[in-house]
Amino acid sequence: MARLKVIAGNWKMFKTNSEALQLANQIKMKTTDIKNTKMIICPPATALAVVNEVIKDSVVSLGAQNFYWEQEGAYTGDLSAGMIKSSGATYVIIGHSERRQYFGETDETVNKKINTALENGLNPIVCVGESLEERESNITDKIVSKQISGALKGFNAAAAAKLIIAYEPIWAIGTGKTATPEQAQEVHKMIRDLIRNLYDDDVADNIIIQYGGSVKPENADILLGQEDVDGALVGGACLKADSFSEIIHIAESL
Ligand code: PEP
Repeated sequence: MARLKVIAGNWKMFKTNSEALQLANQIKMKTTDIKNTKMIICPPATALAVVNEVIKDSVVSLGAQNFYWEQEGAYTGDLSAGMIKSSGATYVIIGHSERRQYFGETDETVNKKINTALENGLNPIVCVGESLEERESNITDKIVSKQISGALKGFNAAAAAKLIIAYEPIWAIGTGKTATPEQAQEVHKMIRDLIRNLYDDDVADNIIIQYGGSVKPENADILLGQEDVDGALVGGACLKADSFSEIIHIAESL
């Protein structure tokens, strides 16, 4: 069945507000012809409001990269879901491997954040993926299944249907190494089957499963052409409007 392709750009800790303004403007101008591909850009939190002003009347959606699960309180330096929502974000990345690696995020905190995101009307983009060591030990399926089951614990089908899952093998993020299309398809299918087991055909057949890990214009069509690959979460290649819009146009052409 045909699912919408969803291309999201994770700007990570790049772009000051003036740089963000420029990049968002360029992306908006280069994608005015896009009709059938969902586009999301996720600038750093400091630039959310600035970027929102640029894209609010376009079909490009705004996402945040992180937030804290409490509604408000004495959590110096952190941001609530309500705050990022008030900056214009409608999506939020949860459980990116860099957050898991450097900031101690776990399946449990991912689960709490999904809950708060949904309570606040934000659409979660939930990241999962195995390390190189785990892949080489042939435990990719086990690791990814555990991450998904942990993330989804306690959620009913209506809640699960609101998620985007991003499969991002850690060894492919920012390394220039990409999973082969077969490797990506195999894990994406496994994730969809797991969702089918946990919920039903409707959720499984409609849920968007993105691939992430060194996606660039040169490999986008072969990866996005796989049956269960419904889009991409793009890091490095989303920092330039040319390469990001090229990936979007490839998705649109498939
Ligand atoms: C990411 O950070 O989600 C990512 C996939 O990065 P890159 O495209 O640079 O590998």
